This record gives sequence, structure tokens and C-alpha cells, in this order.
Amino acid sequence: MGFGWWFFTCGDKVLVIPQGQGLPFGEVQELPFPALDFDTAEEFAEYQGEPCRRMELAEPIDMGIGEWLTLRESMFRLEPGLFDLVGRAQQIELFLNTHRFCGRCAEPMQRVDWELAVACPECGFRAYPRISPSIIVLVTKGDEVLLASHRRHKHGFYTAVAGFVEAGETLENAVVREVEEETGIRCHKLRYWKSQPWAFPHSLMAAYFAEYQEGDIEADRRELLDARWFKRDKLPDLPPHGTIARAMIERWREGK
Ligand SMILES: [Zn+2]
Repeated sequence: MGFGWWFFTCGDKVLVIPQGQGLPFGEVQELPFPALDFDTAEEFAEYQGEPCRRMELAEPIDMGIGEWLTLRESMFRLEPGLFDLVGRAQQIELFLNTHRFCGRCAEPMQRVDWELAVACPECGFRAYPRISPSIIVLVTKGDEVLLASHRRHKHGFYTAVAGFVEAGETLENAVVREVEEETGIRCHKLRYWKSQPWAFPHSLMAAYFAEYQEGDIEADRRELLDARWFKRDKLPDLPPHGTIARAMIERWREGK
């Protein structure tokens, strides 16, 4: 049992190896793993035509190879397709670990075998993995771009405005509201670009470009250290490659 890609996880950590594409690949007997109960591994996806198996460990034990990295650290070591699947594995585990009992009647939940869900044998209530829509928006004004520096980012870079969609709101409402709340700027002419699953812990980000409409910058000091307009040829420290924010800024910088 057990040929394929191995996704060993432990809380927000994943086992990453220096060889190959960054995750253990092969037959379980041929890899230097300790004796574990590999029957608890679950196939959850395919990558490059091979099965992906996830196995959650209670402790980050020595697996004989590689090291345990957080999901965010793994972003810089894995190719994008594998990184997305690590995010998926961690979201499945978060879902299962936080839906052990029925939210309606408190009975233990059971796995549904034909879809990713849990169901209550007592009252029939069914739960699915939670996905939280959020938006990220790059506001431009001619040759300038609106970027903000967040209190929660340790490294002090400037990035696009982002936030969660509230109940009952459209994505477009959320874009306009977040920009106005965080920076005091009113934006319009929204253009949807693309979306990205972002497993921190379970958001789905919709990326928009927008244009300045009116207002002066007034940064929300509870969330931001600073917000300002930057010229295309004088950009500050930017978020790392691999993030959708960086991809948006690069796209704008290249004039697309
Ligand atoms: Zn129930």
C-alpha cells in the first residue's frame, strides 16, 4: 500500500525534503520512514498523474528525511502545484478536526464516503469544509499605485489592500468598502483578474484591479502602519514572489 506523493502534516507544519520536487515520493516501503500506521493515510488528490496521500501526525517526529516547515515556509520550497495541495491537505485536516461533533445536536459526526463532508447520524445535519471569501485589490491612479504596510506583517513591506467579504456582501462591495475603510480612498472601475486559494487558514482570495475615484489617504491605524501612493519606478519593499499581491504588482509594473 502507498505509492505516490506523501503529505505528512502536523498542525500547520508539513514534511518537506530537499530532494526532487520537495515532498517524499514513492512506495512507502522504499522510503526511510519510521514504522507508522500507514493505513491511516488517505488519498485526497492527484498530482502529475500520481496519487497524493495525506497522513496527519500528532507530533512532528523524525521521519528519517526532510524537515517540518510551516505552510508559509513551504511556499518558497515547493513548486506552486504541490504548495496548493499542501494547503488543501491542511484544510481537509482542519475541517475534520473542528467538525467532530454535530453543531445542531452534539452527536459525533461521521464521514460521508462520496464527498468531502461529515454528517450527523442522529439529525442528518451535514457540514462541509469552510471556505472564507476574501478580496485583494490593487488601486492605481495613472502612474501611481496605492500600497499599504500592515501591522501584522513583520517584514515591513508594502502590499495591496485585502480583507474578508462580509455576510450578504458582493465581492465588488467588499473591494470598495475595504479600500475606503483602510485607506480613506474611494475606488471604481473594478476589473476582476483571478482567484487564489489561500490556506491561512481557509480563504479564497479574489483579485481585482481598480482605479482611484476620489479622496485623500487616511490610513486606518488599527490595521495599517502606513498607506501611500508609489510611483511605478519607485516601489518600496514588496511582498514575496508566490503571493497573488506580488503577481498583481508585477503585472501593473509591466503595464499589463
Ligand atoms: Zn445532529
